[in-house]
Amino acid sequence: MHHTRILSSAALAALLVVSLTACGQEARGGSRYKADTGKGGTIGLAMPTKSSERWIADGQNMAEQFQKAGYETDLQFGDDKVENQIAQLENMITKGRKLLVVAAIDGSALTEVLQRAHDAGIPVISYDRLILGTPNVDYYASFDNERVGELEGTYIVDKLKLGAPAKGGSAAKHIELFAGSPDDNNTKYFWNGAMKVLKPYLASGQLVVRSKQTRLNQATTLRWDGGTAQKRMDDLISKNYGDERVDAVLSPYDGISIGIISALKSAGYGSKSQPLPVVTGQDAELASVKSIIGGEQTQTVFKDTRKLAAQAVAMGDAVLNGKKPQVNNTTDYNNGKKTVPSYLLKPVSIDKSNTQLLVDEGYFTAGQLK
Ligand code: BGC
Repeated sequence: MHHTRILSSAALAALLVVSLTACGQEARGGSRYKADTGKGGTIGLAMPTKSSERWIADGQNMAEQFQKAGYETDLQFGDDKVENQIAQLENMITKGRKLLVVAAIDGSALTEVLQRAHDAGIPVISYDRLILGTPNVDYYASFDNERVGELEGTYIVDKLKLGAPAKGGSAAKHIELFAGSPDDNNTKYFWNGAMKVLKPYLASGQLVVRSKQTRLNQATTLRWDGGTAQKRMDDLISKNYGDERVDAVLSPYDGISIGIISALKSAGYGSKSQPLPVVTGQDAELASVKSIIGGEQTQTVFKDTRKLAAQAVAMGDAVLNGKKPQVNNTTDYNNGKKTVPSYLLKPVSIDKSNTQLLVDEGYFTAGQLK
């Protein structure tokens, strides 16, 4: 009896090891799970969701690069649920991860859990999205987020051939505006960057928003959800574009652009007599790059996630070795508690004329874009 019980708890322990191994393998693309004995220890990587390609790539790129640098990795995705991400971070702290790299789902919701990380002496890198309202963020690695919006706004102005902003300038064109998730700190940078370019044209009357929804809080899309954007676009078209045509849609993310284009197509756009409007985007996701090549989405903004991952890994490695990470912005990213030293990479605008760049850079193969 006693013997059996011992055996079964041994079996249980074995099972636990097997399931830990499975988690480790899933997280690190097939490498074997080891306990926290690597020379550098284990890095906790908390990504927001698998529903968008970019975050899967960000997570995998960082895991690979940290492993190359001699660390183990624990990669988790929060399924866009704030409570999942908090639980994952708590678990990482309990397991003694040496460093946390976090792309927040809700930038303001991590204050308590990051206090625990701080108390345990674990440094934190804010990845792509700035974590707000806590002093316990050591560094921030991202792209120049305002520049992303500027590239989208400028693309619309150029494509619609609006010329210089001036009263009595080019004939009025109709535009509708979409923004990202209200709880993502990047949203306001993208929006401000785009509006900096578009506002003078709204003021001159060369651009008109027929829905009059010109404030950020009217344009946001919770959790960047494409379906939510599609519904809003359906509604905007049916209420404001009976006899009129929408000429451009500012979209801050490819998944949102795909939703917007579906709504436009259902309303009859996409033919010779009623071509699709200019639709921007962000992330150069495969479906959107194909859509651009196929003449539906017009533009996207390419942010090379491999380079961002490399930056975060270099920062993390420096922090863990008592060195100062390289930063290029120490003024603009204040999170309400501190100005977080940041490294910002450059985003690149992509349209039909330069999708080849994505192949040249090795981001996609030529075959993938066919
Ligand atoms: C990222 C974008 C991405 C968006 C939706 C933002 O925080 O900076 O690249 O399109 O989240 O995932």
